[in-house]
Amino acid sequence: MPGRNFLFVPGPTNVPERVLRAMHRSMEDHRSSAFPELTLPLLRDLNQIFQSSAGQAFVFPATGTGGWEVALTNTLSPGDRVLAPRFGQFSHLWIDLAQRIGLRVDIIDVEWGEGAPAERIEEILTQDRQHEIKGVLIVHNETATGVTSDVGAVRRAIDAAAHPALLYVDGVSSIASIDFRMDEWKVDVAVTGSQKGLMLPAGLAVVCASPRALAAREQAKCARVFFDFGDMIKANASGYFPYTPALAMLYGLREAVDLLLEEGLGRVFARHHRLAEGVRAAVKAWGLTLCARAPRWYSDTVSAILVPEGTSGADVIDVAFRRYNLALGAGLGRMAGKLFRIGHLGDLNELMLCGALAGAEMAMRDVGIKITPGAGVAAAEEQWRASAAPPSSDAQAHPGKSTAPRSVVRT
Ligand code: PLP
Repeated sequence: MPGRNFLFVPGPTNVPERVLRAMHRSMEDHRSSAFPELTLPLLRDLNQIFQSSAGQAFVFPATGTGGWEVALTNTLSPGDRVLAPRFGQFSHLWIDLAQRIGLRVDIIDVEWGEGAPAERIEEILTQDRQHEIKGVLIVHNETATGVTSDVGAVRRAIDAAAHPALLYVDGVSSIASIDFRMDEWKVDVAVTGSQKGLMLPAGLAVVCASPRALAAREQAKCARVFFDFGDMIKANASGYFPYTPALAMLYGLREAVDLLLEEGLGRVFARHHRLAEGVRAAVKAWGLTLCARAPRWYSDTVSAILVPEGTSGADVIDVAFRRYNLALGAGLGRMAGKLFRIGHLGDLNELMLCGALAGAEMAMRDVGIKITPGAGVAAAEEQWRASAAPPSSDAQAHPGKSTAPRSVVRT
């Protein structure tokens, strides 16, 4: 099909030209004396992405799922109890992984469309006087339903119960796009993948562990070899890896982190919020609703849009792809067919999103959903014009880049 593909699944996201160019390079010796010049500053700078100075960042050749396993196996033992709210396909899958590595999971089932229930977590932890529960697992941004949970509120709940459980957070579709404060929220292990806010291909699990999590490693008996923090800590100390690292991905990660820090994390978060508000205005103008049940759950990285009874989200996605070269996200698990998702994260600006909204409108009309042509695009335009960022003189160089001085630079 001529023209470009419009990639609007909530990961993988668009890889910026600068990142693509950085990855396009010859291989080199990952044991050379020069290699740590890449890795040591990179590992340090990753802390800024997690907003953590106390934590230690790790890069594993894996995906977000591997990151889940890294987090749990390095800190827990088979038979340990963990508490996990389930409110979408990814919280469901993390629970499944936890069970399969031998943990006992106390599941709090929550309506899909809502987020982590801080009050319920506080109640359960308060009742756990023997402190049998060793960890609380929260998916910060449930990509399947477009719901963002309040991790700060979960931290306050744990503290209010005076409970020592470790706090594990899946930030796969939030970190580097939505405000994520590892140290402030006292998150013990945070997990992300390379293919979303970090604007890279899939292939890296990027994890940050608090000093408490690293200490828990000493007692943790879950089997781990490839994913062992201990081996990584030893090798990373001098800038190396315990096995052959994914070189091109590391160069790409270096460039992606530079892009994010040049834009400034605050501006990255504000851009995601502004873009998401436009999408939400479009959804309203279409007369449709989000899967997220209330504004407090709205996600700034993905909107899951419910289609009317008698129509199928899967049909919208298929028509959008075949006719308009637009990739929208599918309904997952129990939401299959009931919705379609627009990913609005990563290297993105208003005009790119206008393309996705226009394509979604055409595809919806093609499958019989009654939409006034242009209604969503017009509403998004109005929303964005009302909250426009100041004009950028180097808009060509990077879509989200501002003219303001670099707020953070490579350390
Ligand atoms: N957690 C969340 C919130 C996700 O959105 C995803 C994937 O989309 C995952 C975990 C799993 O990550 P991966 O597919 O990289 O293994």
